[in-house]
Amino acid sequence: MTQFHDLLRAERRFLLTGHEHPDGDCVGAQTALSHLLQALGKEVVIHNPDPLAKAYGFLRQHTRFGHHQAAEPLPAHDVVVLLDCSQLRRVGQLGDRLRAAGKPIAVIDHHVGSDRGDGQVCYVDAKAAATGALVRRLFREFGVPLNLAAAEGVFLSLVSDTGWFRYSNADAEVFTMAAELVAAGVDASKIYDQLYRQNHPDSAALLAEALGHASLRCAGRLAIAGLDKDYMDRAGRADFDTDAVLEPLRSMVGIEVVALLKERFDGGVKVSLRARGDVDVQRIAAAFGGGGHQKAAGATLKLTLADGLRAVEQAVAAALTATGGQVS
Ligand code: 5GP
Ligand code: MN
Repeated sequence: MTQFHDLLRAERRFLLTGHEHPDGDCVGAQTALSHLLQALGKEVVIHNPDPLAKAYGFLRQHTRFGHHQAAEPLPAHDVVVLLDCSQLRRVGQLGDRLRAAGKPIAVIDHHVGSDRGDGQVCYVDAKAAATGALVRRLFREFGVPLNLAAAEGVFLSLVSDTGWFRYSNADAEVFTMAAELVAAGVDASKIYDQLYRQNHPDSAALLAEALGHASLRCAGRLAIAGLDKDYMDRAGRADFDTDAVLEPLRSMVGIEVVALLKERFDGGVKVSLRARGDVDVQRIAAAFGGGGHQKAAGATLKLTLADGLRAVEQAVAAALTATGGQVS
């Protein structure tokens, strides 16, 4: 047992949070951890910087999700657990408030360098496919059996971060856990349906439009697309998940990096990077102040969309040059 386990045992009121626009791994891991802590007799609130995306609404059947509202006080807590990221600056304004509240911060994360974040105690493994896999390990270490809600949470984490078992991080632990979760009652096809087959009627047109903005650069090794605020506004109103754009771009022969830039409403640009092959997009994202994994990383740039597209193309060109081959 480590300091992390001791903290979980010792404290009483837990506030679970994560990065802005929490994804399936983040909310799945929070779901599972909330049930583990409840089984240990703790008080738990999940309090995120942004509301739960509609696609994850099925989690609400057994788990409560709250989110930051500037006018409302923070939920009472003795300790903060940060899941699927390790820095309060990724938690937006809620992160600033949590820092000011001054309670201990514990981190559960699987990103490169997450042991050097804001956590005073950490439960991290950069080799783990998903944060939810780490929470599954915690259940074992505390000797608590998974209930169905927690099993669904862990399953959501695994499928979110492995692209439904397609990516190279889908290792033996992932498949072993998935088998065990399905045996425990998780209905995989129902979850797939809830995640991907409840799309707005505009979603196909939005996907086509976004793909239409993509261009191939660096001698066909980079696919890059920029989505402006007008597009992001329409996508937001249709609950369209722009991650759907990444995989068709990554599927083309010769592509080594995909870059998707989204203009933010507060100015700035969010960039998502995906790699195929040897390029390390985590290093590219880190150079922009972001991070992630070798094959999936992101950053927020304080640039206009046009300047962001140029800067990212340049950085990717430099990385591709370093791995050898032509970029023009
Ligand atoms: P996505 O492109 O889906 O937002 O993120 C891809 C991966 O990079 C995820 O694991 C995500 O947590 C990480 N990531 C995305 N944006 C940032 C960022 O601004 N900073 C850091 N450190 N990691 C990020
Ligand atoms: Mn994750």
